[in-house]
This record gives sequence, C-alpha cells and structure tokens, in this order.
Amino acid sequence: MADVAVVGPLRDSFGRVHNNLRISVTDRCNLRCTYCMPEEVRFLDKGELLTFEEIIQFVRIAVSLGIDKVRLTGGEPLLRRDLPRLVAMLAAIPGIQDVGLTTNGLLLAQYAQALYDAGLRRINVSLDTLDPEQFRRLTRRDGLDQVVAGIHAACRAGFSPVKINAVSIRGVTEHEVVPLARFARRFGCEMRFIEYMPIGADHWERGKVYFAHEILEQLEREIAPLVPVDDYDPRAPAMEFRYVDGGGRVGIIASVSRPFCHSCNRLRLTAEGKLRNCLFALTEVDVKPLLRGGGPAEQIAALIRRCVWDKWEGHEINTARFIKPLRTMHAIGG
Ligand code: SAM
Ligand code: SF4
Repeated sequence: MADVAVVGPLRDSFGRVHNNLRISVTDRCNLRCTYCMPEEVRFLDKGELLTFEEIIQFVRIAVSLGIDKVRLTGGEPLLRRDLPRLVAMLAAIPGIQDVGLTTNGLLLAQYAQALYDAGLRRINVSLDTLDPEQFRRLTRRDGLDQVVAGIHAACRAGFSPVKINAVSIRGVTEHEVVPLARFARRFGCEMRFIEYMPIGADHWERGKVYFAHEILEQLEREIAPLVPVDDYDPRAPAMEFRYVDGGGRVGIIASVSRPFCHSCNRLRLTAEGKLRNCLFALTEVDVKPLLRGGGPAEQIAALIRRCVWDKWEGHEINTARFIKPLRTMHAIGG
C-alpha cells in the first residue's frame, strides 16, 4: 500500500491535493448563534491560543508544502487583538496568493479599512436575517445594525465583492432568502447560502436543512432566473450562479445535498494549534508542542503531511455511519 509522500504536493491517500488552510484565531465570539454554539461556553485561556508568530511559523512550513490560500476564522476573528497585523504578516509570506476572512461583521466597521490596507482581499460576512427580532433569536444577541454597517464599510474599503454568508435552515430562514438576496443585489455583494450542517450545538436532522435546490427555486421565482456562471468550477465548494438580468451572483454551498468531499483541498488549524483534515474530523493532531517548543520544521512538515494523508474519503453526513464531532463549529473554526 502507498504511504505518505515526503516530497511533492500535499496529497491525501485519495489523491486530493491540498492548498487551502483555514486558521482559527480564537474560539471566542460576541454572538451565540444557535446553530453554532451553546449559550454557555467555556472559552480557551489566552495563553492556550497560538501566538501570531507561531501561526506564521506554521504557515511558512505549510507554504513550503504547497499551501497558497489561507482564511482566518474563529469564533469571531475580529475579537483577536491586532488582527490586521496578522493579515499583513500572512500576506507578506512568499507563496501566499490569497488571504481571506470570515467574520460575523459586528466589529467590521471599525476594522474594514485596516484589514484591506494590510492586504486582505476576500471577506465573507455572516448574516442570516435583516429582521432585528429574528437576528436576536438566531444569535441570542443584538447587533444587526452593526453588521450592516460593517458590510457597508467593507464595500467602501474596497472589498469587491463582499460575500454574505447565510445558513439555510428549514422553518427558520426560508423567509430570509429573498430579502437577503435583494439586499446583496442592491449593494453589489454576493449572497452565499450554506446548507445547515450537523456541527453546532443544536440537535440537527436532515429534515431541518433547507436545500440548495429549494433556495434556487425560490430565488428564480421571486427575483430573477439564474444560470451557472461562465467560470463555474465544479470542484469549488460553492455552486455559483448569476442572475440573467445582470443583478450579480449567488453562491450555494450544498454541503449536505451535494457534498464536495471528492474535491476537498482544505486543512484546518484550530486556535490552540490542533490540525484537522476535515471539518467533521473525529481526530486531530496537536502541533502546538512542536511550534512552542522550537521543534524542527521537518518534523512539523511531516505531521502536516501525515494528517493530510490520513484524510478520510468523505464526511458521510448522508449515511447512518455519520458521527457528529464533539467540538462545535466555533471551537473548530468555521
Ligand atoms: N464568527 C465568524 C462568522 O460567523 O462568520 C466566523 C466563524 S463561523 C463558525 C463561520 C461560518 O460558519 C459562518 O458563516 C456560520 O454561519 C457558519 N456556520 C456555523 N455553524 C454552522 C452550521 N451548523 N451549519 C452551517 N454553517 C454554519
Ligand atoms: Fe459566533 Fe460565527 Fe458561531 Fe455565530 S457562527 S456564534 S458569529 S462563531
């Protein structure tokens, strides 16, 4: 049987090449979205988080193995002090082509320009509703106006397009689809609907997923016909469409109804330095002791290679074999 390669691209045993790293910079959050985390959470102590220097050390090694795209996430990444400094450090690493950020937008008005100036070019803001009451029910907090202000600030800062992520839950968010899509069209943003996944604190069942095809039907019925974009990439997680009337694009991430495991190129680093080869992974590799203890780069590279190599074929959400990870989304890094 073939074994993990010691040279060449970062490949798993199914031949998938990995170039994409998601880095969680904190497990803390200023919202408590019901589909993501429980109301009461014990967050990591500050000393447990990887420092910026440790993150950069890890990324440099990952880049030498073929990683060229990184995305910062959390928890809420803008709660991490000085985040633009980390963005600038990442953007300066030779070989990094792309630095992205996923944020709930609450603090974005304050940071959008500094992030852009630091070299961030891709930004996704999570927003599930434009109704303040529904926002409070879903996030257990207030803050809709701040998120909307954050989206406008990101547009002004130069991010183009700002992508807006909304989780799609049956019986909860159907009524939000059209207002959100209209809002995105109006302000030149790209709406992205994400099928609700079994990774949060709530009890998940398939029946609660408001599926991609239903969202598309609703958008076409109530807004305008959609066609796949010309540069449609069937390997990308998001299926991308454009309105035929010229009203912009919509992305749909159909993790449940159309899993994209066969083309997955992602690896995740948690805020406290655990490496995960899948969002739904049941095991992780602790790289912090090596990063903190001055471990040799070759040893860290070997851990990364082994972790990628060991990736399973897919998450099996749609089978009886699926096992929900113990960690919830905010603690893994969405
Ligand atoms: N706090 C930031 C935010 O909300 O954008 C970044 C972290 S959050 C965990 C990243 C993304 O995961 C968000 O877009 C959020 O909506 C999504 N998410 C969280 N729980 C989810 C679930 N159970 N199913 C689908 N998406 C989920
Ligand atoms: Fe926080 Fe993002 Fe999770 Fe909502 S989805 S609780 S904003 S980490």
